[in-house]
Amino acid sequence: MILKDCKIFMDVFNKKKKIAVLGSTGSIGTQALEVIDMLPDRFEIAALTAGDNIDLISRQIKKYSPKYVCVKQKETFEHLKNIFKQTEFFYGEDGLIKIADLKELDLILVAVSGKIGLKPTIRAIKNKVNIALANKETLVMAGDIVMSLAKENNVKILPVDSEHSAIFQCINKREDVKHLIITSSGGPFRTASKEDMENADLNEALNHPRWKMGKKITVDSATLMNKGLEVIEAHHLFNMDYDDIKVVVHPQSYIHSAVEYKDGSIIAQIGNPSMHIPIQYALTYPERLEGIETESFDFFKAAKFEFFEPDYEKFPSLALAIDAGKKGNTYPVCMNAANEEAVFAFLNKKIKFTDIYKITKKIYDSYEGINSPSIEQIITEDEKVREKTKLLINSLKKEV
Ligand code: NDP
Ligand code: MG
Repeated sequence: MILKDCKIFMDVFNKKKKIAVLGSTGSIGTQALEVIDMLPDRFEIAALTAGDNIDLISRQIKKYSPKYVCVKQKETFEHLKNIFKQTEFFYGEDGLIKIADLKELDLILVAVSGKIGLKPTIRAIKNKVNIALANKETLVMAGDIVMSLAKENNVKILPVDSEHSAIFQCINKREDVKHLIITSSGGPFRTASKEDMENADLNEALNHPRWKMGKKITVDSATLMNKGLEVIEAHHLFNMDYDDIKVVVHPQSYIHSAVEYKDGSIIAQIGNPSMHIPIQYALTYPERLEGIETESFDFFKAAKFEFFEPDYEKFPSLALAIDAGKKGNTYPVCMNAANEEAVFAFLNKKIKFTDIYKITKKIYDSYEGINSPSIEQIITEDEKVREKTKLLINSLKKEV
């Protein structure tokens, strides 16, 4: 009996976690693979997925020999399956869902960008696989459904976003928490004038002072929409009223976020700005291991910790996102879809930087939400809003 218990104990502790990395060719995905490279006896890469980056996914397949791979397009799928005969390939959204449904997984990192993350996350929850969640659209679009499904299925949603990882690390007794404090670097236009922002080009918007990320999230960080999305994420992850979530601009980004308790104590998570740490914590939770970031934080080099109130007038996207979060139902779906289409139009140089907010606001103001939506209704609303936004963008282009 004792021997048997010992064996179970050894199995549990020696077992490598079988992991699927959705979005392995992206900013979070590649950094997650760097984390995993440092912990080879802890993880087995069961599945990788990419969008269009064939070169990188091919190199990743050679390096990690995953059993399963999913790509976005059927043509890429046809091409790769003829080269890598040992790997089982899938494609499209259905392919991502099939990966999320694999019975052998211990953990799935959802690091695809955009709404494509939603359905695989839901399938993984139903498959009772713990989730390291980077994709913020999942919680913004369907936070109520995702969190209650996770609870029902006893599945952990481990935050990867640095602010939420920080809060997750600072919370011990949720019932004693008074406020969540989400920090923001302020983005590349923190000290810019309104005129500078009117004339900002793509390079300026993509020039984030602290973080190297995918393009969509980098533009959102410049409008502070990203912070608004993070407030909605925090509301769902930690079941916290919007009025109890504070945004604090902290340009140095050393404090990654904090929790204020009802006795007045504030516990913050501090460190060099790096996504490796939150990614690793989500992957190895509840363990803390020596991994990729070994250099200690240097308080004397850091020296300056500054804090400012967000300028909601200069960055109206932040206020818009919080308003959508408070309204709930499908309002965040509308706000997120309109913003995303406007950001794509900006990235394609179809509109100006400041048009992103104007377009999102126009669509949002004319939107009638649906109460307590199902996932299907969420997806339909998302598609409707995207079509409307694209029409608006095209009509603006004609006017010009
Ligand atoms: P990237 O744009 O760098 O990467 C996105 C990944 O998703 C790529 O692997 C891309 O494939 C894949 N992908 C995109 N669209 C599709 C699709 N339709 N079908 C299949 N795969 C697709 O984004 P990030 O890594 O920056 O961000 C990923 C998510 O994590 C986002 O939701 C973001 O908000 C969130 N996040 C990111 C942070 C960061 O530091 N980067 C911080 C916190 C959250 P490919 O490149 O091959 O086309
Ligand atoms: Mg963040």
